Amino acid sequence: MGQPDFKQEAEALFDEMVAMRRDFHRHPELGFQETRTSRIVAEKLGELGLEVQYGVGQTGVVGLLEGNQPGPTILLRFDMDALPIQEENNLDFASQNAGVMHACGHDSHVSMGLAIANIMSRYQKQMAGTLKFMFQPAEEGLGGAFAMIASGVLDNPVPDAALAMHVWTPEQYGNVRVVEGPCMASSSVFTITIQGRGGHGAAPHLANDPILAAAQIVTALQSIVSRNVNPQDSVVVSIGQFDAGTTFNVIPDRAILKGTVRSYNETLHRKAYRRILEMATNMGKAFNCPVTMETIAIVAAVVNAPEPTAVVREAAVKIMGADKIVEHRTMASEDMGYVLEEVPGCYFFIGAGDDDQFSYPHHHPKFNFDERAMINGVAIMSEAAAKYVLSNEAE
Ligand SMILES: [Zn+2]
Ligand SMILES: [Zn+2]
Repeated sequence: MGQPDFKQEAEALFDEMVAMRRDFHRHPELGFQETRTSRIVAEKLGELGLEVQYGVGQTGVVGLLEGNQPGPTILLRFDMDALPIQEENNLDFASQNAGVMHACGHDSHVSMGLAIANIMSRYQKQMAGTLKFMFQPAEEGLGGAFAMIASGVLDNPVPDAALAMHVWTPEQYGNVRVVEGPCMASSSVFTITIQGRGGHGAAPHLANDPILAAAQIVTALQSIVSRNVNPQDSVVVSIGQFDAGTTFNVIPDRAILKGTVRSYNETLHRKAYRRILEMATNMGKAFNCPVTMETIAIVAAVVNAPEPTAVVREAAVKIMGADKIVEHRTMASEDMGYVLEEVPGCYFFIGAGDDDQFSYPHHHPKFNFDERAMINGVAIMSEAAAKYVLSNEAE
């Protein structure tokens, strides 16, 4: 066989990928509930001749494609979960599950993973090494990567490198974002409970209003980034949920705030977190509303190692051309950070947006992306995987 042309092989699978992606899009499943999706994944991997493990980290699937000769083990990771969002797109393949939507593009990740397994299974005889396909549940803040690691996805065989990618509408279709070092931020998710004393809205002096205290806390927290963090560093503090009250004339007993901290730097992350705790606690005291704060999840920063990043960049240049490679970081977070703490690897972004119908950000109810991006993603990841396990072929 000559040099594989992964762009061409990915193009040949485009219609199949679109059909799969639209089917997953119609039937989105929340984290750790991906039973339909993972059943389809396990079936297809089995049909392609991979050795399949089902139910890894609850609804995760692992597929092993072992070459004829020994060599490195390369982990290829794809996430499968949808989000608790009501879709507002008028598409014939729009979500059929009320309140659940593939608004991050993980439907395409599953399809691309299956297409890569399809392509690479044709090279099994020439392969020196093993490809380990990790189809992960519950990426969206529920710790699916951690669950799969706890179930042994990084053991037996132990991966030598790990690759993952995301379709990305903030980047133009046709471009690829690859960057060495930190590329996504560490993230912690916290809940602040402000305990007041409820009462009649017409007699506020007899109550302790937790809404007023919570509003002051939300405002005060904005000063952490502007006044406690060096302007040259990056930290985000966002409150995304503010729950309090039931009607207009009742002062409620309590208010609850949920938010997140993002940073590339652990020390800064801890500092921001400590300031949130100090401010919320003391602001609560000022309003006679005791405050408690709880951390729900902490995700490590996604840090790309030099060697796998060079492999991905080389693959992306070959498939797309050097002028299509963009160096860019994001303050979004990914639990792939857990994997990359254990295994050197590279996480990269496939441009899938435009200035028109594909301009909505991820997690938006009108999110959609240019499906042709799947061709680029499949070709680049196949090319990168081949650099590890088909190196004889490439010489
Ligand atoms: Zn997401
Ligand atoms: Zn995502």
